Amino acid sequence: MTERKDELAGNLARVEERIADACAAAGRRREDVTLIVVTKTYPASDVRTLADLGVRQVAENRDQEAAPKAAECADLPLRWHFVGQLQTNKVRSVVGYADVVQSVDRSRLVTALSKEAVRAGRELDCLVQVALDADEGGRGERGGVAPGGIEELADALALAPGLRCGGLMTVAPLTGEYAGRQQAAFERLMDLSTRLRRNHPAATMVSAGMSGDLEQAVAAGATHVRVGTSVLGVRPGLG
Ligand SMILES: *Cc1c(COP(=O)(O)O)cnc(C)c1O
Repeated sequence: MTERKDELAGNLARVEERIADACAAAGRRREDVTLIVVTKTYPASDVRTLADLGVRQVAENRDQEAAPKAAECADLPLRWHFVGQLQTNKVRSVVGYADVVQSVDRSRLVTALSKEAVRAGRELDCLVQVALDADEGGRGERGGVAPGGIEELADALALAPGLRCGGLMTVAPLTGEYAGRQQAAFERLMDLSTRLRRNHPAATMVSAGMSGDLEQAVAAGATHVRVGTSVLGVRPGLG
């Protein structure tokens, strides 16, 4: 094993143990929580190593970086999640490799994604990104729609050809009433998910929790955690 493969294997094992412990503490089954490794800022060679180590789901947040990386890794059995703020002029590119877009937060994006999914002959799972710190009717600084806007976007996704409404995603807010209260934030997301599933029973994905707060997310009921730093290391610069 190379040194990097060793390092990634060790990190993955530690994250796996954290998820297993969190599931046990919450009385949940380990297989009910899916690990998505966020590979942003790290090279395609790391993605390849992760696939070799058994990782099957990866996430990226910038199309400029993700598109060439996904192309280099096209031979690997990976499911690609897009988790960043998405401009409509990048949608065609993203639809070319993403299996899941987790950051749907406005109806124009639904229209654009649908058009490109149909053009590409693909079925795309989409999550509504929720900004728990946004003012009603507004959007969060890091993307996401205020809770009051979820239903409208979910309805639009359900009606849009080529798209499926898969559920909800959030990033724990740094400001507002949920600042420093990740578990409360994730519990709120679960309430919103329960409400959403009344009209959209198949929208079962709840994507919440990162390296610093995956335990709180699992405790609240998240079905998917998105972990970068704890697997790959601290990112150089911002990312
Ligand atoms: C970078 C990122 C993550 C992973 O964050 P870590 O703290 O590195 O685990 C998760 N979700 C989103 C949306 C991200 O942009």
